[in-house]
Amino acid sequence: MNIQELDRQYIAGTYARFPLQLVKGKGSLVWDETGREYIDLGGGIAVNTFGFADDAWAEAISAQAQILQHTSNLYYSAPCVRLAEQLCLRTGMKKVFFSNSGAEANECAIKVARQYAAQKKGPEHHGILTLSGSFHGRTLATLAATGQEVFHRHFQPLPEGFVSARTNDLEDVKRLLAKYKVAGILFEAVQGEGGVNPLDPEFVRGLADLAAQQDILLMADEVQIGNGRSGALYGYMNYGVQPDVVTTAKGLGGGLPIGATLLGEKAQDVLGPGMHGSTFGGNPVCCAGALNILSRIDETLLAGVRERSGYIMDALTGAPGIRSVTGMGLMLGIETEKDSGQVISACMDRGVLVIRAKEKVRLLPALNIPTDLLKKAVDIIKGVCAE
Ligand SMILES: *Cc1c(COP(=O)(O)O)cnc(C)c1O
Repeated sequence: MNIQELDRQYIAGTYARFPLQLVKGKGSLVWDETGREYIDLGGGIAVNTFGFADDAWAEAISAQAQILQHTSNLYYSAPCVRLAEQLCLRTGMKKVFFSNSGAEANECAIKVARQYAAQKKGPEHHGILTLSGSFHGRTLATLAATGQEVFHRHFQPLPEGFVSARTNDLEDVKRLLAKYKVAGILFEAVQGEGGVNPLDPEFVRGLADLAAQQDILLMADEVQIGNGRSGALYGYMNYGVQPDVVTTAKGLGGGLPIGATLLGEKAQDVLGPGMHGSTFGGNPVCCAGALNILSRIDETLLAGVRERSGYIMDALTGAPGIRSVTGMGLMLGIETEKDSGQVISACMDRGVLVIRAKEKVRLLPALNIPTDLLKKAVDIIKGVCAE
């Protein structure tokens, strides 16, 4: 049996995979098992910040793996401390809890909000307010937080205490805050899985004001838009607000699993000994890789992200067969006249990998994708949409 057949036999059937087996990559190029080359604009779903098999990152993780690959959280070790220090210095947050994924980073945020509110107002203030069209993960609690009914099917009953407001509708948020005792507001500055839609700036500032007035924790889910992808280090930074909690994962690890929950002034001392934990959280190899990634997300790189983003926007907005281009930085959604599934397979046939978000074609390329490859890929997308 070949790999595709073995996969169907032995891997749980949760993924509708593209008919493509990838065997190696370098930067923004990747090859299948027949040796065919593709330009990658999917980035492993916003994970491969510097593309495939990036030299500096690979060196950082292999050096750490050869010294000390895991210690458990029973002992002190340097890589997670250095990474937490950098995350705090660059965001103004105060403390970090490390986990292994975006969903876990959000689980931690939910626990922090509930514990904060329980201490300050009482345990009945346990509501978590999220937004329609949001996506926060696949664990039961983060599914409950996800404001899309399609994800809730099959798994009832979900944990209680989650309520979602209409996105970009501050009146609806106010109505729900009056009705439920809310501990935290969880939002994505740019909704990724929901269709690559940036929130309205006024709405985000309104959320921040309401959270501050009512002493509710403002929690930014930066799992997808974070770590340089928006053209700023974190997506919320484009909105001039300061969250109390920031969750991130995906691109932070550059390809290894890591989640981080950043706690600001209000939330920094909420968690005490024994209140939360993770066996792999703060793993030295993952943290050494993340430290390398974070150190390279500097102003030069971010300027390059904004420049590439502008190039894609200009090239595709108003092009034949393209209805709209939404998003921010290098997280973009293309609304096409043709079915997005058809566009994605036609691009694949011509050597370009793109992915989907709702009905849109989604682009999440490496932040350092060479401009010649980007231009070539954008021309191919344009051609496919125009046909
Ligand atoms: C992907 C994603 C998650 C879930 O992350 P996992 O690592 O798959 O658990 C949560 N929030 C957002 C915004 C995401 O894009």
